[in-house]
Amino acid sequence: MGENILNKSDTDEEIQSINDKMNNSIIYNPIFHRIIYVACILSSIICAVGKISNESKNPSFNAYEVFVVLLVLFVIDFFLYRMNYFMSTKVFLVFRFCEILLFELIIAVIANINVLVMPLSAMIFLWETEYILYGSDFMKDNIFTRRIVIAILAIISSALGANYREEVIWTCFIVLHIVIVCGVYAIVNMIVEINDRNEKRIFKLSNEVADIQDANEKLIEYQEKIETINEEINYQRIEMKRTNNELEQVNKEVEAQAEVMKYMSSTFSVQKCVDVLTDSIIEMRQPKLCAIYTAPDDFIDKYGNITIKTNYTSIERRLKEDSKDLFKLAKDNKATRIYVKDELEQFGFIGKANINSVALFPLAEEEATYGFMIVASDREDFFDKGIAYYEGCIAEFNISVKNTRLYLMMQDMAHKDGLTHINNRMYFMQLFEATVNKAKKEKTPVSVALYDIDKFKSVNDTYGHLAGDEVIKMVASIGDKYAEANDGYVGRYGGEEFLIVFPDKDKNQALSILEAMHEEIKNTVVKYEEYNINVNVCIGLTAYPEICDEPSLLINRADMAMYYGKEHGRGRLVIDSPEIAQED
Ligand code: GH3
Ligand code: MG
Ligand code: MG
Repeated sequence: MGENILNKSDTDEEIQSINDKMNNSIIYNPIFHRIIYVACILSSIICAVGKISNESKNPSFNAYEVFVVLLVLFVIDFFLYRMNYFMSTKVFLVFRFCEILLFELIIAVIANINVLVMPLSAMIFLWETEYILYGSDFMKDNIFTRRIVIAILAIISSALGANYREEVIWTCFIVLHIVIVCGVYAIVNMIVEINDRNEKRIFKLSNEVADIQDANEKLIEYQEKIETINEEINYQRIEMKRTNNELEQVNKEVEAQAEVMKYMSSTFSVQKCVDVLTDSIIEMRQPKLCAIYTAPDDFIDKYGNITIKTNYTSIERRLKEDSKDLFKLAKDNKATRIYVKDELEQFGFIGKANINSVALFPLAEEEATYGFMIVASDREDFFDKGIAYYEGCIAEFNISVKNTRLYLMMQDMAHKDGLTHINNRMYFMQLFEATVNKAKKEKTPVSVALYDIDKFKSVNDTYGHLAGDEVIKMVASIGDKYAEANDGYVGRYGGEEFLIVFPDKDKNQALSILEAMHEEIKNTVVKYEEYNINVNVCIGLTAYPEICDEPSLLINRADMAMYYGKEHGRGRLVIDSPEIAQED
């Protein structure tokens, strides 16, 4: 980041180094200054001691006086430096100007002291130079004034000198003085030009630096923005990935649900639907438990049933025991409920298993709860993302159960006799045909009996048709009971005539069952209003292939045996025989 941008501290260092170079060009050195003073004082001492002063036009100064003036000046100069008065450039320049003026005057009016003239001249030269140079960088606005002042001083000095002095050395001094002043001009101009150029360069550089810094800041700003955008993009990418995964999961679930739906709509077996649904939920959502309970139902399951899918065998056992309580809870809840933390304590079936969330879904058909589904997980947040998936599955399951019930009801209506609820004649004949075909194919026995209520007409006549109906129902249900208990089936053949079939049972096996049945019918009292009605039946029994080897004649032969019984006193159980068949 920022590799291509000029570093701020680099720029500062460069400016500092330029300033240093310029400062070095300034002649400002108090030690050097003092050495000159000392040299002047020493020269004046030498002049005084050597008594080499000559007469002059205006000998107003001698070596001693010069010495005293220089000494005083030196002391003042020294103390001013010591006391740091020259921290201010203005004070320094004023003081230095006074010094130069004084020395110019001294040198102009000094009486022919050749030894002293040289150091004084050198000193003026240096001080003038210093005066012009020093402050050039601090007080630019008056540099011109200072140059003019020095020029005037030089002219005054030369004029005064010309007035009072005539020596060759003095003429040389004046020439030298003019040359020096001109030289200083040239140097100053050159330095000022260099200085201006440097300043321009610095100004340009600092402008460039400022621009670069601006650009740098902008770049940093953009970089930060880009980083923020990048972060946002990354975040969005992660979000998209997560959403994609969720979509994929939902897709999978929808596909699985569609498969389950397809299956459920293609079968009228509730148990198969339960198995497919619980397996699908376990596979898609991977809970620790998924179970479906259906309460006892005439059409779906007479005894009620619970199907449990879990790896915890102890839970399976306990859940079976608690299923009726959970059914009651689901019924009371009416809607789906999710249980976590302390609420789980009420579910004894969990035991010590690692279960941290439970969802209880009531299964209901038009507000009537007929069962529940329970799903449990080891994760407490398992149902946080919603339970729409489960409720969708349950909605399908409910439809399937409803359809199955309707189908079974219609099937029941088609197969059963309206009064007695045993097989009607048509369905009985279907069953019988299948039984006979199987017996013929597998060479197994079949026993067939036909029984008819004795003197039933008189029951109707005596107690009325409704009483007669009750009697028919009693006889039919006892027949049904014996048939069911012995793997047989019964059918209403006519008004008060019934057929009972025992596949895989021979004559003797059937006989003992029928005897018991006959006994029960005879002994059963039908209570109708204030009446106690007793009836008897006449039973004709035949068996394939023992008595009759022609299956298509079986019902006929049973009928003949029954009629034989009617004709021979009623209330009898008659076994078919060739004689009876011939008698007819
Ligand atoms: P038998 O001992 O010879 O069998 O005499 P029976 O009176 O039982 O014989 P019959 O066949 O003459 O009478 C049968 C009667 O059963 C005639 C009919 O009115 C009556 N019946 C038929 N179906 C029903 C029914 O569904 N309900 C009632 N109440 N009576 C029926
Ligand atoms: Mg009868
Ligand atoms: Mg009859």
